[in-house]
Amino acid sequence: MTATITRPHEAAADLTALEEARAQLREAIDHLGLSEGKYQMLANARREVTVSVPLRRDDGELEVLIGHRVQHNFSRGPAKGGLRYDPHVDLDEVRALAMWMTWKCALIDVPYGGAKGGVRIDPRRYSQTELERVTRRYTSELMPILGPDKDIPAPDMGTDEQTMAWIMDTYSVAVGHTVPGVVTGKPISLGGSLGRRESTSCGVVHIALAAMESRGLRPSTSTAAVQGFGKVGRGAARFLYDAGVKVIAVSDQYGAVHNPGGIDLPRLEAFTERTGSFVDFDGADPLERDALLELDVDVLVPAALEGVLTSANAPRVRARVIVEGANGPTSSGADRIFADRDILVVPDILANAGGVIVSYFEWVQGNQAYWWTAREVEERLRSRMVGAWESVTAYAAENELSLRSAATVMAVERVALAHRQRGLYP
Ligand code: NAD
Repeated sequence: MTATITRPHEAAADLTALEEARAQLREAIDHLGLSEGKYQMLANARREVTVSVPLRRDDGELEVLIGHRVQHNFSRGPAKGGLRYDPHVDLDEVRALAMWMTWKCALIDVPYGGAKGGVRIDPRRYSQTELERVTRRYTSELMPILGPDKDIPAPDMGTDEQTMAWIMDTYSVAVGHTVPGVVTGKPISLGGSLGRRESTSCGVVHIALAAMESRGLRPSTSTAAVQGFGKVGRGAARFLYDAGVKVIAVSDQYGAVHNPGGIDLPRLEAFTERTGSFVDFDGADPLERDALLELDVDVLVPAALEGVLTSANAPRVRARVIVEGANGPTSSGADRIFADRDILVVPDILANAGGVIVSYFEWVQGNQAYWWTAREVEERLRSRMVGAWESVTAYAAENELSLRSAATVMAVERVALAHRQRGLYP
């Protein structure tokens, strides 16, 4: 099976992820009447570290990988953000993702700044033992800047609970005692939180249902398509299905499947679990992978990578509501086209914040060494997501802004306030 992952913004005349992130910041700074100096402080990360990650392959060969960790801001608390293993990772992408983490944490009011990490590697081409060595070496290179009060990684594309367990173990061995709070998204047996695994998807669907309601769309008569069938996309498809929405298409990096009558998600999940892919699933027809983005559906959930909705394909998108499960899937050019066409876009920093909310719950539970029930986690997640939806939609309406602009302005204002109150050292 071969994977051709194209980066849409490389083909279309849209901005890179970092250019998009900085343009969003510029707009928020102008809206708030903040200074150019404040823009410069927030457009650039507080700290960026690039490391070589030498790996002894299982066959004895030596390979050197590149890893990054960008800590965009710590004004409101320790830096927080995922770790991505992907062959397209580059420093500018990590910078953009770190900045979006700062806004996300501020928007949903958890006491963190923003960070992101990445290793340029295609994890599907490496064994578990190789991935363990990569993770341990990357962690060891970053030891001085990680820690529960400094910077707390979590899973992102290509990483999972096991990756977090290796980071926690490497860090703990180095400092000489067990430090569960150095990561979130850990296995439950090591102090992970119930509900963390499905938290991002669950939050995406709380927001999708609220956004649908705002457009008069009822779950039982609505359709959805989900791009990406990983940690976020797979759960989002399933929660939409459980809410009664007809999920008519899903995709992963290898292809897509489509059934206009609705896909039986539990069957598709079981099939994918067994065979490792959608190929040959008899409950849906194959579909050209990126055609999923242009299907006539009520809700489209991009939950794979950034830059997939561009000015090139936006005119052909037929969804009524787009809920960004992925970070940065929509270019600003596409945003303008969607606004003109009255397609509602719920931005990433609001829509996919469920993961960092439950990461925060995991950190709080770990600090107290007192664990909540799954129901308590779910209820607190729901209440935070719905609260954030209500405050962003109200702010957008009052200020005549898009949801993305409103969310970014609210977040930037909170971070700027923390800067002002702390003052500038020296
Ligand atoms: P993952 O590695 O678990 O899954 C990624 C999925 O996307 C895989 O199914 C992969 O096959 C698919 N994919 C890759 N390229 C594709 C393409 N061109 N077309 C269709 N599918 C493609 O990653 P994840 O953790 O689910 O993250 C997905 C997105 O959600 C990323 O943008 C990530 O930053 C964002 N996100 C993740 C979390 C989290 O808690 N994991 C939280 C917030 C945001």
